[in-house]
Amino acid sequence: MEVKDNLEVILNDIEESKSNSPYHQTPTIIAVTKYVSTERAKEAVSAGIKDLGENRIEGFIEKKENIDNVTMHFIGSLQTRKVKEVINQVDYLHSLDRMSLAKEIQKRADKKVKCFIQVNVSGEDSKHGIKPEEVQSFTQSLAEYDNIEVVGLMTMAPLEANEIEIRAYFKHLKQLQLKIQELALPHAPCTETSMGMSNDYKIAIEEGATFIRIGTKLVG
Ligand SMILES: *Cc1c(COP(=O)(O)O)cnc(C)c1O
Repeated sequence: MEVKDNLEVILNDIEESKSNSPYHQTPTIIAVTKYVSTERAKEAVSAGIKDLGENRIEGFIEKKENIDNVTMHFIGSLQTRKVKEVINQVDYLHSLDRMSLAKEIQKRADKKVKCFIQVNVSGEDSKHGIKPEEVQSFTQSLAEYDNIEVVGLMTMAPLEANEIEIRAYFKHLKQLQLKIQELALPHAPCTETSMGMSNDYKIAIEEGATFIRIGTKLVG
């Protein structure tokens, strides 16, 4: 399938999900290009995509160096010792999930990095992320790191979750985001939610996603 045909389907879905949502927000589509070539990623950009997501440093750098005029999102877990290789090329980091990572970003970044705090809303042991009940204190403790701006919260639903469970996880993330936003912390505007992938983006939009991360259904 051509990317532009996939994108048309997704854009229609977005309109429909928005109309079923109390938030009526139009999410930014991040094309997750981790499984595909730079050529295919360029096809997405030609189709109108302005945001690309990668979860590994190698793929991130390759796309960043070969594709112009795109916003680059690092969506994978980031090892502390690898921060220096990539952080100054990242427009948005979706996986801030621990204080040691924040410290390293503070040390290595040349300027403020837009970060999503990754939240483990499902409580699965295998998932990265801050526990929901610790998000507020974690966010507050980032105030001293002036190279970090908390733009929002990010989550991933477990693969085996059903629709009811997925909706509950996304609702929970949205509530947490609104709660942090309400604190009006200068370093943490927290206006965004990064949630929803190929199989669950419609639910995510209904629950107020502002960034959706789509791989398979868009470029796969
Ligand atoms: C791979 C990946 C996606 C996209 O997954 P699809 O199911 O292919 O849409 C989104 N978010 C993260 C963090 C990923 O690693």
